Amino acid sequence: MSAIQHLSPRKIVIAVAGMTMILALVALIAKNDSVEASDPTSKTSVIILSGDGMGIQQRTAIQYALYGLDERQPMDALPYTGFLDTISAGPEAVTDSAAGATAWAIGEKTINGYTGLGPDKKRVPTLLDIAKSEGKSTALINDHDVTNATLAAFGGPVVNRDWKSTIAKKEIYNGKVDILMGGNEAYWYPEGNPGKIPNTNKQGEDKSEGRQGNLVDEAIAQGYQYAYDKETVAALTGPKVLALVQDSAKRRWIETKGYKYKQDPHYVPVKDMVTKALSILDQDPDGFFMAMESDDLDSAGHEHDVRNIIQSGHTLNQVVEAIQEYRETNPDVLVIVTADHETGGMTIEDWSKEETNTNSDGDDPIPYWGKKALNNAGPKGQVPIRSGPVTIKGTDRKFKVDWTTPEHTGGMVPVTAVGPLAEEMVGVHHNTHVFDVAKKALTGTP
Ligand SMILES: [Zn+2]
Repeated sequence: MSAIQHLSPRKIVIAVAGMTMILALVALIAKNDSVEASDPTSKTSVIILSGDGMGIQQRTAIQYALYGLDERQPMDALPYTGFLDTISAGPEAVTDSAAGATAWAIGEKTINGYTGLGPDKKRVPTLLDIAKSEGKSTALINDHDVTNATLAAFGGPVVNRDWKSTIAKKEIYNGKVDILMGGNEAYWYPEGNPGKIPNTNKQGEDKSEGRQGNLVDEAIAQGYQYAYDKETVAALTGPKVLALVQDSAKRRWIETKGYKYKQDPHYVPVKDMVTKALSILDQDPDGFFMAMESDDLDSAGHEHDVRNIIQSGHTLNQVVEAIQEYRETNPDVLVIVTADHETGGMTIEDWSKEETNTNSDGDDPIPYWGKKALNNAGPKGQVPIRSGPVTIKGTDRKFKVDWTTPEHTGGMVPVTAVGPLAEEMVGVHHNTHVFDVAKKALTGTP
């Protein structure tokens, strides 16, 4: 005898209605599950977000400073988590960004300094090329230099990451990069042509030094819309876009004391660039590929500046939020958030009193682009101002950070993911695994 035979007809109706609701709920949960871990389709899009130099300690410091102990930061709230090794094909034991990003871009570990090329220097399809051949749109975005090693790994294959103007020329060659947005116009305009953004760096860092003629004119002739400040970025409609705006490096307060980036019309928040790019990419029914990097995070690691690491982490989390908002109506997007390596050997330590600096040499590096140390310990061994204290949000507890090197380190980095095939990022993998999973997603291979 089943339980339902004990019930009155009215109660049966209620029971049936209840059962229907439960079944609907189960179906809904299953549907949500399938949204999170669905198979890719021919229209699946892929977004790779890199916090250059963002090891587990950086990610944790960003979490504590901006989100406290309870609310999970957006980039760590993605449902699948794993670890990636970062070692390159050499010759050093520790990777640079060129080899690190190339592992994602072509699925092969390469020599430090090479972008988008294997150790044999041969040109092979990058994820961006694969996306193009699948009829998808492509976008490369950076908060710093658009010709830097990470973006070059996808769109500017060269054997020397310092060939900036060559990378720029390759990025617009054949229009394979539909949307290129970020900082540093210096390599796009020839010497003597100041470009659109006022040069303010006393060391002449932002003076034009292009070696390939006027590449902005060349891009416009190829059909690119060109933008250089908030207003012109807002007006972009696509499908081809070149936006060269204020470099986030200006934000480094020590070099440009008094510079207020929020008041600079040429400074466009990365979140606004990504949101604009998504609105243009969305017009392509076949999907898209996007690689976006916060290079500022790596610079902050080289300079031992935890405040700028947290600022860059804020940017990355804003970008993840914008993408997740887009995914609410467009779930067929694989998003992978990771790093090419860790920078600085950063460690979170307790701040109990000011004179607890444990490694004044390590905290006081000469950055590779500078002549003198910029982050000195105080006369009594006090913690350098750029190393702390940092308050854990929502508490009265404070930490400082310590460093072991002004260079990159060789440990594994965390990776989080959401969308089709995101579950394949779980576990410990070579960094080339990003390519394997992203390629499957872009080609609709289950
Ligand atoms: Zn670096």
